[in-house]
Amino acid sequence: MTAIYFDNNATTPVDPRVVEAMMPLLTGEFGNPSSMHGLGAHAQSAVNRARAQVQRLVGAAEPGEIVFTSGGTESISAAILSAIELSPERREIVTSAVEHPAVLSLCDWLEKRRGIRIHVVPVDARGRLDMAAYEAALSDRVALVSIMWANNETGVIFPVAELAQKAKTAGVLFHTDAVQAAGKMPIDLKSTPIDMLSLSGHKLHGPKGIGALYVRKGVRFEPLIRGGRQERGRRAGTENTPGIAALGKAAELALAHLDDESTRVRAMRDRLEQGLIERIGRCFVVGDRDSRIANTTNIAFEDVAGEDVVLLLDKAGLAVSLGSACAAGSFEPSHVLMAMKVPEAAVRGGVRFSLSRGNTEAEVDAALEIVPGIIDKLRRMLPPATQEGAPRALDPAHA
Ligand code: PLP
Repeated sequence: MTAIYFDNNATTPVDPRVVEAMMPLLTGEFGNPSSMHGLGAHAQSAVNRARAQVQRLVGAAEPGEIVFTSGGTESISAAILSAIELSPERREIVTSAVEHPAVLSLCDWLEKRRGIRIHVVPVDARGRLDMAAYEAALSDRVALVSIMWANNETGVIFPVAELAQKAKTAGVLFHTDAVQAAGKMPIDLKSTPIDMLSLSGHKLHGPKGIGALYVRKGVRFEPLIRGGRQERGRRAGTENTPGIAALGKAAELALAHLDDESTRVRAMRDRLEQGLIERIGRCFVVGDRDSRIANTTNIAFEDVAGEDVVLLLDKAGLAVSLGSACAAGSFEPSHVLMAMKVPEAAVRGGVRFSLSRGNTEAEVDAALEIVPGIIDKLRRMLPPATQEGAPRALDPAHA
């Protein structure tokens, strides 16, 4: 059983207060929000409360701008496909090379099956977006920009407010995948021209299978799922009332803990990162250290395979991840690290540590004890030419 959980970008433990908030909707308050009787009204008021809680987390102007969905992937699909559907004369999308597969594989499908041209904006060695390429891609042929707020593998934050402003100036709709940003950093949609934003419950101590899409008032929207009039016609299907109540509570708690995230969690992440680098050697942090969400560090350990590190750490009671949980299983090199041109031998050794408010200083201490021994053990299994003392194979420019 895992004793220490440092894989919070994959998913987070559900906060007990969130479980408490969703339980009544699973038991006595089981009504359908569309029903006219008291039980229905009760469920409807739980949904309304949750909508206001999510509205506050993202600083939306009105609760009606929040649409509940089944999670980040659905929100992203709904945003992108709505834009394509509503602007048939615009046949291009602008996105970045480091997006989550929820964006990239949909774009790939749109390109192959619908003939949509996809502009993939590159990033530099620190994971920062190429602003000149971004601006050059904007035109009146573009139906939508979809660029993430914070990267799930490196934690690198894109200047989304600035990107949205540039899109607005060019007359292009702007969507952001804020699945890794929501609850980890302040978001104020009232003061940025973002048109649509996706978030997910299970990344902020809520349950899996619930999320939200923000659609700015006045932005035209075509539903992904058709049927009943739920969510004011923007997402059909009887509401997942327990999930929605849970997401609302999770959003409220995330907002209350934002300071904690950016001070206590950041301090733990920094101590872990610094400590590992000092103790281990021949490793470096991947991604822009000046602009990262507070909980994430992605460290490339030279001359080891990330999957071996993850498996041995798991045996030792520490849960971490390869660059991306979604790449796990395939063991393919991470597209994010490849886009950053991290040297290939180090891409293989990329390990992501992602903390949350549930972690403790004692866990950081324990990780600092466990990880160096495991890396050392793996390096000792290498052929002598690649062991410590041998000439360095990698360019440390990414440090
Ligand atoms: N976008 C990012 C950046 C993510 O990290 C994830 C989940 O890993 C998703 C989208 C997909 O969200 P969900 O798991 O809720 O579908």
